[in-house]
Amino acid sequence: MDSLSLILQAQTQNVLSQEQLLQLLQDPHIDKALFQAADRVRQKYVGNAVHLRALIEFTNICRNNCAYCGLQAQNTAVTRYRMTEDKIYALAHKAAKWGYKTVVLQGGEDGFFTVQRLVPLLRRIKALGLAITLSIGERPFEEYQAFKQAGADRYLLRIETTDKALYEKYNPAMSFENRLRCLEDLKRLNYEVGTGILVGLPGQTAQSLAQDLLFFKRFQPDMVGLGPFIPCPNTPLSDAPAPQLTPALKVMALTRLLLPDINIPATTAMEALQPNGRLQALQSGANVIMPNVTEGEERQNYALYPGKAAAAQAPQNLRQELEQKLHAIGRHIGTGYGGHKGRKGVPCC
Ligand code: SF4
Repeated sequence: MDSLSLILQAQTQNVLSQEQLLQLLQDPHIDKALFQAADRVRQKYVGNAVHLRALIEFTNICRNNCAYCGLQAQNTAVTRYRMTEDKIYALAHKAAKWGYKTVVLQGGEDGFFTVQRLVPLLRRIKALGLAITLSIGERPFEEYQAFKQAGADRYLLRIETTDKALYEKYNPAMSFENRLRCLEDLKRLNYEVGTGILVGLPGQTAQSLAQDLLFFKRFQPDMVGLGPFIPCPNTPLSDAPAPQLTPALKVMALTRLLLPDINIPATTAMEALQPNGRLQALQSGANVIMPNVTEGEERQNYALYPGKAAAAQAPQNLRQELEQKLHAIGRHIGTGYGGHKGRKGVPCC
């Protein structure tokens, strides 16, 4: 079947085989048609609302050495920080005051933040009426359970790549099986689970991206975040080729065709690569933005990759600026919690 017919078929049936995914990933002439199809599916299944999640980057200390990440433990050029629980709570309080319905607490794998520290904090934040997303890496089942019981609703854990050899090459001392175990545990505990991959890692093939997409289809996450890989100074991949936005947008659009009602963020890495990269993503299948409400020096020091978007923007102005940009493309900020429409978890409105 030709690529345009495949796109039209996937738009209604939401199924693509590995060979068909490969064909679409490798066809450079169908990008616009693919993005438009994903945009139509997005509009039909999740509407024109864009859900905002206020991102709080509360620790940039991490025990791991992921080769693609600027926060890796071996990077001595990073000024490390760890917020106090009171500071994290104060940022969540501000986010609620500014109208956000969800906070995302994101950090490296920092052993300082034990269950004993995080559970009381989650309870305090929950009392603000916020949905809580955690993005703090791999933990044992019992810890995920304790966080859920304390009020966490969602958990983000990217699989990064489903190519086991590539995963273990770039994540030394981490196990692909444990990553999968964590994702399964989160699902069992009834979190809204977000996963995702990096697109453009050196050595990653179209075949491996097709397998990643089939993994999403099988795993049925509630959210999928795609980041274009951006080489970061002082990391083993600092000399990797310059990244491109289009391959990440293509994987994102295909994700929307396969999983029509999930939440898909327009990621900050997309904006870092190209001005208005996030708006392009919103017009190619995405329906979520995660504005960074981290303040002060910590905001500058959470350097996952160079040029992280809006690093200098004042957090209190982000919402208003986004409102104007969204209006210009016929979209609006969602007023509810923005949960996954296809399942009973966090209310979708
Ligand atoms: S990707 Fe996450 S786990 Fe890996 S080094 Fe960076 S912060 Fe740590």
